[in-house]
Amino acid sequence: AKQNGRNQYAFYFDELKRDSKRLLLLEAELRKAIQQKEFSIHYQPKISIEKQEIIGVEALVRWTSDKLGTVSPGEFIPYAEETGLIIPLSEVILEKVCMDIIEWRMKGISDIPVSINIAALHFQQDDFIERINTIVMQYNCSPQQLELELTERTVMKDSESIVKKLIKLKHMGFKISIDDFGTGYSSLSYLNRFPLNYLKIDSSFVKQITALKDKQAIVDCIILMAHRLHIKVVAEGVETKDQVKLLKEMDCDIIQGYYFSKPIPSTELLDFVELWEIHKQE
Ligand code: C2E
Ligand code: CA
Ligand code: CA
Ligand code: CA
Repeated sequence: AKQNGRNQYAFYFDELKRDSKRLLLLEAELRKAIQQKEFSIHYQPKISIEKQEIIGVEALVRWTSDKLGTVSPGEFIPYAEETGLIIPLSEVILEKVCMDIIEWRMKGISDIPVSINIAALHFQQDDFIERINTIVMQYNCSPQQLELELTERTVMKDSESIVKKLIKLKHMGFKISIDDFGTGYSSLSYLNRFPLNYLKIDSSFVKQITALKDKQAIVDCIILMAHRLHIKVVAEGVETKDQVKLLKEMDCDIIQGYYFSKPIPSTELLDFVELWEIHKQE
């Protein structure tokens, strides 16, 4: 048993060493990747239920590192948030999105609204508005085409300064969404104080709506409440026809999920948009 114990210890120790090595490598690689801007952006279409139109896309960052291979945003985004690297990283992402928007425009595609994810730490910077505006103007993009996805947690505090920032962004033309709605345990009181365009119901609810009646009731209530406040509702992580059907019955406005498309590179998105138009005319 003693021998066994020591092996066990050796095993954990190896694992610990491996983890901390990976973390060190991750940090070094991430810093380098930000400097060299070696990220790409995928876009996931959002479809309006009623008119079946592509009403916009969500930009999602992708990273393949030489030394680590493909690293998912679920791993490197939280790490970037912890280390503050999220701020330069988000600026690289915004630049890439602006470049894609300009390319679409040059190809004669009518403007597709793009939503980008904004981390709490980034949003909290005093010069947040100035700096994103500088990038948007530099690339000749218009804030009207951009939507900022802020998580419930980011805006939860409902402080005067957050409200002011959101109102300013809205005046500049940016649209505002609340992401991952339903996961923040927040009070709903802030919803009518904020100038919101969209509320995104977290995929954890969507996954269970066809099986669990109480999840269905929650989603139903969220949609009702949002509509009272003139906010449109996006359901995230929609994968099946049954989910679409149920969400339609509940009067949900917009669907995003693998059911219609995974996040895809810019060039594939243009094909998707073209095919979608043909499909709609049929
Ligand atoms: P999120 O903002 O909630 O994004 C939705 C995630 O769900 C994306 O994962 C997307 O690929 C995935 N997804 C979409 N439809 C489906 C579906 O039908 N089924 C399933 N199972 N998944 C679906 P992804 O791209 O891995 O991103 C994970 C998270 O990382 C994002 O969650 C967001 O919090 C963060 N993230 C991704 N890109 C960025 C970025 O550019 N900036 C920032 N700050 N965060 C980002
Ligand atoms: Ca999002
Ligand atoms: Ca989300
Ligand atoms: Ca999420």
